[in-house]
Amino acid sequence: MSSFDTIAAISTALSESGIGIIRVSGPDAIDLVNIIFVTPGDRHILRDVMTHTIHYGYVIDPDITLDESVVEPDKKKGSIYEHIDECLVSVMKGPRSFTGEDVVEINCHGGVYVVKKVLSLVLKTGARLADPGEFSKRAFLNGRLDLAEAEAVMDVISSKSDSALKASVKQLSGMVSSKIRSLREEILYNIAFIESALDDPEHISIDGYSDKLITLLDKWLAEVDKLISSNDSGRFLREGIKTVLLGKPNAGKSSVMNLLLGQDRAIVTDIAGTTRDTLEEFIKFGDIGLNLIDTAGIRESENAVEQIGVDRAKKAADEADLILYVADVSDDITDGYFDEYLNMMESLSDIKGIILLNKMDVFDESKDTGKVYESGIKAFVDKAEKYGFPIVEFSAVTGLGYEKLKLTIGDLFLHGLKSDSDEVIITNIRHRQCLEECRNSLVNVKQSALAGMEEDFYSIDLMDAYASLGKIIGEEIEDDLATEIFSKFCLGK
Ligand code: GDP
Repeated sequence: MSSFDTIAAISTALSESGIGIIRVSGPDAIDLVNIIFVTPGDRHILRDVMTHTIHYGYVIDPDITLDESVVEPDKKKGSIYEHIDECLVSVMKGPRSFTGEDVVEINCHGGVYVVKKVLSLVLKTGARLADPGEFSKRAFLNGRLDLAEAEAVMDVISSKSDSALKASVKQLSGMVSSKIRSLREEILYNIAFIESALDDPEHISIDGYSDKLITLLDKWLAEVDKLISSNDSGRFLREGIKTVLLGKPNAGKSSVMNLLLGQDRAIVTDIAGTTRDTLEEFIKFGDIGLNLIDTAGIRESENAVEQIGVDRAKKAADEADLILYVADVSDDITDGYFDEYLNMMESLSDIKGIILLNKMDVFDESKDTGKVYESGIKAFVDKAEKYGFPIVEFSAVTGLGYEKLKLTIGDLFLHGLKSDSDEVIITNIRHRQCLEECRNSLVNVKQSALAGMEEDFYSIDLMDAYASLGKIIGEEIEDDLATEIFSKFCLGK
C-alpha cells in the first residue's frame, strides 16, 4: 500500500553478542536482501520463498567474487563469493508484518564489525538507513499499531522492572487504546445526536437531553480522572520512586541505604538537569523500583560531626517523591527531638513520607519492649500518626521491617494497583496531557449544560474532548507531531 522507500537498520544493541539483527522494511526489502544473500550453492532464493519463513545461507558482497582457481570447493561449498557471515534470514511479507510492509530480517553473528558490515551491504543495494523509530512509525502509518501501541513498543524496550514491563505490554496489547476508543464512541454518539437534533428538530426532540448529558458527563469525567490518576502509579511503575533518606547523623541512613542496595545490584545513573551532582541508585524493591537519591553528605554522615541541616534536607526532598525518615530509637530522645523534621515533612505536601523507627534490634523484646514507647519516641510516634505518616519498626542490622516497608511503599504509591491487574494504567505523559485536555473540555461542556446554554454552543467543546482522546491513539495527529514522537525511539525500532 505504501509509497515508502525501503529502509534498513541494526535492530539489536551494538555490542558483542550471540546474534545481531539487521531489519529491512519496504517495497524492495526482499529484492534488495536477495542481492546479498545466497543459500549454500549460491542460489538467490528470497524472491520465491513463502511469507513467514526462515532461510539459512550466507551474506555475500556480490561485487567480490573469488578467483575460481583458489576456491577450495569443500570449504566454500563451491561458492564463487566471499562469505561475509553465515546467517538466517526471515521473510515476512506485508501486510502481515510489524511495519505492514515487506520485512526481511537478517540474523547474523553479533559482533559489532560484522553487523555494521552487513548493514553497509544492505545500504549499498539501495536501502536507506532508517531514522530512529521509523519502523514503528511505519507500523503506525500503515495501521498496524495505533499511536498508543506504537509508543508502548518504546516503553517495553526501556522497561526497568517486571511491573513496568507488564504495564507497557498491556498498552501494547491495546488495553489503553480500547478504553480510549470506547469513551470516544460514547462522546461521538452524543455529538451526532446533538447535530441530528439541531438539523431535524421536527423528528428528534432534544427536550430533557441536557440532564441526560450531565449524568453522562459525570460518568466520563470519573473515567478520565481515573485514567489520569493511574498515571501517577504508572509513572512510579515505569520510572521508579525518587526516594530520599533523611534523619539525624548516626540515625542509620547509610546502613538502611546499604541494606536496600544489598538486596539487588544497584544501577547508578546521573540525573540530568539538577543543579548539583546527584546520583541515583536504582533498586528493585518488590513490585516497584526505588531511585535512591544519594544526596551529598548522607553517605559520609558516618562522621557524626556533620550536621545535615533541615534546609539542605529540604532541598534534597524537593526532588523526591518519597522521604524515608530514619529515626534512631536507641538515641536519648526527649520530647520535640524530631519536631523540626516532622514539621518539614508535613510542609512538603506533595511528598509522601514513611518513618522508619530504626535500630529496633537494640531492644531485647522479651524484657525491654516498653522502653521504646516510654521515651520521647512515644510523642514522636503519636505526632507522626497524627500527620498520617506510616511507621515501620526497622533494623538495618537484622532486616526487621524490610517486608513491611515494601508493602507500605506499595500502598502509598500504587493505590492497590497491581501490575498484573486488569486496570488500565496510563504510563505515558503525552497521554496524560491529552486526557487533561479532554477533561477541561468536558468540564466546559458541563458548565454550559448546567447554565442552560443552547446545545450547539457546547457541541464544540464536546468535539474538542473527542479530538483530545483521538490524539492518544493517533487519530487526530499532525504529521510533525508523529515525527517528533517517533524520533524519540531508538534506532532500528
Ligand atoms: P547515618 O549517619 O545516619 O548514615 O548512620 P549510619 O548508617 O552510619 O549508622 C550509624 C551507626 O549506627 C553505625 O555504627 C551503624 O552500624 C549503627 N546502626 C545503623 N543501623 C542500625 C540498626 O538497625 N541497629 C543497630 N544496632 N545499629 C545500627
